Amino acid sequence: MKVSLSPRLALSGPFLVVGTVVTLLFSFSLYAQEVKSPDGSITVKFNLDSGHLFYEVFCKDIPVLEASPLGLETSIGSFASGLKITGTQTAAIDERYTLPHGKTRDVHYTANELTVRLANEQNDILEVIFRVSNRDAAFAYRISSPNKRRITIERERTGFKFPRSATAFVTQQVAWGGGFMGTKPSYEEGYMIDVPVGTRSRPGLGFTFPALFRLGSDGWALISETGVTGRYAGSRLGNPTPEGLYTIAFPEQAENAGLGEASVSAALPLMTPWRTITVGQTLAPIVETTVATDVVKPLYEPSIEYKPGRSTWSWLVWQDASMNVRDQRAFIDLASELGYEYILIDALWDEEGRIGRNRMPEMVEYARSKNVGVILWYNSNGYWNDAPQTPRNRLHITPERHKEFAWLQSIGVKGMKVDFFGGDKQMTMQYYEDILHDANLYGLMLIFHGCTLPRGWERLYPNFMTSEAVTASENLIFSQGFANNEAFNSTVFPLIRNTVAAMDYGPVLLNKVLSRDQRRGSQRTTTDVFQLATAVLFQSPLQHFGVTPNNLQEQPDYVIDFLKAVPAVWDEIRFIDGYPGKYAVLARRSGDRWYIAATHADRESRDLTLSLPWLKDKTLDHYYDKEDRSAGLRKVTVKEDGSLSLSLVSGGGAVLVYNPQ
Ligand code: CA
Repeated sequence: MKVSLSPRLALSGPFLVVGTVVTLLFSFSLYAQEVKSPDGSITVKFNLDSGHLFYEVFCKDIPVLEASPLGLETSIGSFASGLKITGTQTAAIDERYTLPHGKTRDVHYTANELTVRLANEQNDILEVIFRVSNRDAAFAYRISSPNKRRITIERERTGFKFPRSATAFVTQQVAWGGGFMGTKPSYEEGYMIDVPVGTRSRPGLGFTFPALFRLGSDGWALISETGVTGRYAGSRLGNPTPEGLYTIAFPEQAENAGLGEASVSAALPLMTPWRTITVGQTLAPIVETTVATDVVKPLYEPSIEYKPGRSTWSWLVWQDASMNVRDQRAFIDLASELGYEYILIDALWDEEGRIGRNRMPEMVEYARSKNVGVILWYNSNGYWNDAPQTPRNRLHITPERHKEFAWLQSIGVKGMKVDFFGGDKQMTMQYYEDILHDANLYGLMLIFHGCTLPRGWERLYPNFMTSEAVTASENLIFSQGFANNEAFNSTVFPLIRNTVAAMDYGPVLLNKVLSRDQRRGSQRTTTDVFQLATAVLFQSPLQHFGVTPNNLQEQPDYVIDFLKAVPAVWDEIRFIDGYPGKYAVLARRSGDRWYIAATHADRESRDLTLSLPWLKDKTLDHYYDKEDRSAGLRKVTVKEDGSLSLSLVSGGGAVLVYNPQ
C-alpha cells in the first residue's frame, strides 16, 4: 500500500502563526496528498489550494494530466470553492469477479483507494474517492449533509488538463434535432484523429466518451465515464480551452425534444458516476482495461442465465422489404445452418401484412424448432422523437411495458433491441434502467440502438448485452462515403469506442455490393478477410452479423467454417499492434483457442512483425487476402522468438486462429 500522507503548508499569508487553529491552515494553505497504483507506475496527486481542489496524474513520472479541477456547483451550495479538509482514508481494493458476457471473463481488480473528505462553507460534506490500479485512475464524488435531504447538481467543475504537446482522438457531440426524425444525439459522429489538444468541436458541444489522447512519444491516455444509472445524467467533455483543459459537461437542454432537466437531481447522500483515466506507454492498457466494470457493482441479480451468441439479421442488407414471413424464415434457416443462437427481427415486424403480432408466436415457434432464439426490435418512444417505425408506445408506460414483456416471455422471445433514445439526460438514463430492470423480471435481455454509450452496464445490469453508440455497419448501406471509410473506422473503433463497452456494430458483410441483389447499392471497398477480421476485432456478446443466405454458396467452405466457429464472447483480450486510423491488431482468447485479427486502412501495403510469444512454435490457420481480394487459407508457424510476419493490403485484413484441438 503506497499512500503518502504529506500535508504541506504554504509559507505565506497571515495564518502561519504558531498555535493557529489547524482548520484555518487547512482552509487557506496548500494541502497535498498522493496515491500510487499497486505497482507504483501511476501516481495521482491531490491538492487543495485556497479552498479549490485539483488533481494531477503521472505515469512513470510523465505528466498525463496537469493540475485539473475537481468539484461541483449545486442547489445547496458550492462544492468547488471554500473547501477544507476534514479527513482522509485509505484502502486496498482486491476483488475478483466474472463477466459472463463482458470483454474479459474473469477479472482480478487490485487498486489503492484514497478518500479525501472535505467540508464546504455550509459544512456539507464532499468526499472524493480516488482509485488507482496498474492501468487506470478512477474517481467519483460522494455528497452528504447532516441536515439536507436532496440536491440538484447544476454543473461540474471536474476537468482534465492535458499537456499542450498532447494530441486528441475524439468524436464530436452533436446537437439535438439532427439525424433521423430527431433521434440524435446517438454517438454516431466521425472522429478527429491526432488533433492538437484544445481543438474545438465544430458544432461547439465538445466531445463524447471515450476520448483518447496521445502524449507525444511518451504514451496514451483514455478518458471515460462509468457507473451512470438513473441517479445521474450521462456527461461528456465540453469544448476545451486553448490550453487543453476539457471540463465535464451535462446534456444540452434541447436533448430529448427539450423534455426533462439537463441538470441532475437526487436524494442525499449522492454518489456520482466514476470518471476514468486509463494510461500506458502503449495502447495495451487502454485496449485491455476493465475499469468500466471494475468500479461498479450489479444492481440486481439475473432472473435467468442470459446466453450471449451470434445472430443473423435480415434488415442490415435486405432492409425493410425483408420484414415478411418468407424472408425471416430464410434468415432463421441461415442462423440454423451456421449454428447461430439467434435471429434479430427488426422494425415493422408487427405490421399486419408483414408478419403481425398475431403471427409472431408461430414465427418464434418455427425458430425454436430450428434451435434459434428470437430477438425483436422496439421503438423506445414515447414522446421524444418522431421516428415512425413500429412497434411504438409499448415501453414508456410502466403497465404497458409489463404487459408487453409478459407477452414476449409467454411466446418464448429471448430479447429485445430498443432503438431511438436521443439524449443523455437523467430522465433518459432512468428510462434505460427501467427497461433493463423490468425486462429482467421476464427473462429478457437488452440491446440498445440509436443510443448512448453504455457506462459499466455489462456489470450493473446483468441482462444488458450491447449497444450501438457508434457509426455502425448500417451506414455502409446508407452511404458510399461511409463504405469508403470502412477500413479507417475499423482501426479506430476497437482502439477507442470498444475499449470501454460492448459495441453492436453489425460486422461481417460479404456481399460485394451491399444490397439484396448485389447490383444497386454501396460498393464494399474492403476484402473478404477484412470482414472476417471484424468478427474478432469488434467485441459484442451478441454479434449481429451481416451475412446473407447467398453467402453460403458464394464463399469457400473454410470461410463458412470460420463463420460457424467464431465465438461472440471471449475470455481474454490482448493488444498486439496498431494506430488509430492506420491499422489495428488484437488477439482474443476463447477457452484454449486464440484468434488474432488485423485490419489495415492505409493506401500502401503494410508489413508487420507481430509479437506472439505465448504462441511460439505453434502452427496457426491464416486467413489471408488473395490477389483477387477473396479469402485464402494457409498454415503459418510462429517463430521460436515469438514473432510472426504479416503483410496487409489496403482495405485488407488477416485472421490467425490457434486451435489446439
Ligand atoms: Ca444507428
